[in-house]
Amino acid sequence: LLKVERLRKSFGNHEVLSGIDMEVHRGDVTCIVGPSGSGKSTLLRCLNHLEKPSSGAVFLKGEPIGLKWRGERLFEMSFNELAKQRQKMGMVFQGFHLFPHLTALQNVSEAPMIVSGVPRARAESEAMELLAKVGLGDRAGHYPHQLSGGQQQRCAIARALAMKPELVLFDEPTSALDPELIGEVLSVMRDLAREGTTMVVVTHEMSFARDVAEHLIFMDGGVIVEEGNPREVLAHPREERTRAFLSRVL
Ligand code: ATP
Ligand code: MG
Repeated sequence: LLKVERLRKSFGNHEVLSGIDMEVHRGDVTCIVGPSGSGKSTLLRCLNHLEKPSSGAVFLKGEPIGLKWRGERLFEMSFNELAKQRQKMGMVFQGFHLFPHLTALQNVSEAPMIVSGVPRARAESEAMELLAKVGLGDRAGHYPHQLSGGQQQRCAIARALAMKPELVLFDEPTSALDPELIGEVLSVMRDLAREGTTMVVVTHEMSFARDVAEHLIFMDGGVIVEEGNPREVLAHPREERTRAFLSRVL
């Protein structure tokens, strides 16, 4: 579904991603773990061109993201074309980023109405279904400040799903939550995984990675150091850097 080829990203002369190759299969959960500063967020942001790669490319169903072919060469696409591609990838951030002046229902129904022109009645009924699915059926009229962190993050997940993306990117979705609220968000993510939602999840939740993910990627210093079946990588890391990291977090 998603293919990353020789992706590099530098900020000034600081190279943050030094040649990433990866593939995400439809229906799979891919977890990305690694120490702070290893480039996990930058990689995730490069996948949907929130951050422009310095070189290399990302392909969604064979289509290059942010670029298009003109004859033999790839050119940067217009902002509108990029916006259309971005809709195919939902994104959920550590800090929720809900619109503060909109209710939960409006947060979820806004983009389908404004961006895709879905009629209000249908956008709202689909939003209600999504809110019910993330356990917020009775909170539709609440504003973000009236919701707990866990509820806000579940609302953000519903909002990401509202555009019916091909895959959903999560950047440490539970890191900003109080410990007692983490479980409810992970449980919604587990349900999505069970339904076959394709997800790429940067996380420190190793038990989620072990139990839910099909694929685990360990990053350090801007490269993929080791990857594979999560149970295998976690139980029998081959690389010294992976072992050192796991001994700190497990
Ligand atoms: P964490 O676990 O702390 O979230 P991370 O693995 O997500 O870390 P990134 O946020 O991708 O790491 O950052 C990787 C490196 O890139 C860091 O050294 C960071 O300072 C640098 N970096 C990230 N974004 C920018 C930016 N916009 N401008 C300059 N440097 C940046
Ligand atoms: Mg990060």
